[in-house]
Parts: sequence; structure tokens; C-alpha cells
Amino acid sequence: MALRNVLTVDTENDSLRKRSREVDKIDEKILSLIEDMKETLYEKNGVGLAAPQIGILKRIIIIDIGEGPIVLINPVVVYQKGEVVDVEGCLSVPGVWGTVKRPQEVIVRGMTPEGETVEMSGEGLLAKAFCHEIDHLNGIIYTDKVIDYIDQSQIQQEAN
Ligand code: ZN
Repeated sequence: MALRNVLTVDTENDSLRKRSREVDKIDEKILSLIEDMKETLYEKNGVGLAAPQIGILKRIIIIDIGEGPIVLINPVVVYQKGEVVDVEGCLSVPGVWGTVKRPQEVIVRGMTPEGETVEMSGEGLLAKAFCHEIDHLNGIIYTDKVIDYIDQSQIQQEAN
């Protein structure tokens, strides 16, 4: 496993703005990429990471909302319900937080690293994370959708 460098919006590399490609074969290279993404996510204390954030234009996301890692390959939202406005941040936009409107509930279909097609439902934080990470696969950054930016000192107070 190896830590990967997380691209930020201020770099010259424009991978964050490109559409990632479908994974057609889960081989050793893909599995090793997933392990690297996991290691990088935990090192950065993130909730989610998409492959383009480390400069790899493949449709792979990893999410951990504190209940263990969820890895999905070629994920797509197949159902969504409700609306909620909540605060988001992004490892690729360090030091910035803002409110975004997302579905309250989603069902996402994708493949596990074992090659099994699964549907996963998520509400609240998990729904938000699925939508945020899938947006990355389409070159969309949450700041494109921000309603209001949040003062950082306010966030730290809330965290305490
Ligand atoms: Zn992000």
C-alpha cells in the first residue's frame, strides 16, 4: 500500500474537472489502487475519497462515515428522495466549508472490489457522501453547488 497525494483545486492538474472512466475489469492494479485510496482516506481523516482526487480518472469511490469502509466501483444513484441542506467540506478544497442541498436518501448501485453488483441505501451523512463522491467522478466539486460558505471559526466551535 502507498499513500497518494490528494489533488487540491489550486493545482495545475485538472483531473478534478474531468469525467472519470468506467472500470471494465477489476484486476490487481485496481485492487492495489483501492488499497491506496483507503490508506490515503484514513491518513487524511476524510469521510470519502474518489479516485480522480488522487489523479486517477477511474470511477471508484471509498466512503467511511465511521462504520467501516464502503468501496464502490462504477457507482450510480438509482433512486433519490427528499432534500436536505447540510455542511460539506472536501479534501481537495482544504479549509473551506459550505452548505449544499442533497437528497435525504439515496440508493446507489455499483460493484464491490470482489466484482459483485450491489445496491446500497444511505440516508443523511451517507447519502451526502455518496452524492459528493459520485459528483467527483463527473468532474463536479461541491463548491459548484454551495449555497453559503461557512465561517471556519464557527465550525470549530461546533466541533467542540
Ligand atoms: Zn470531495
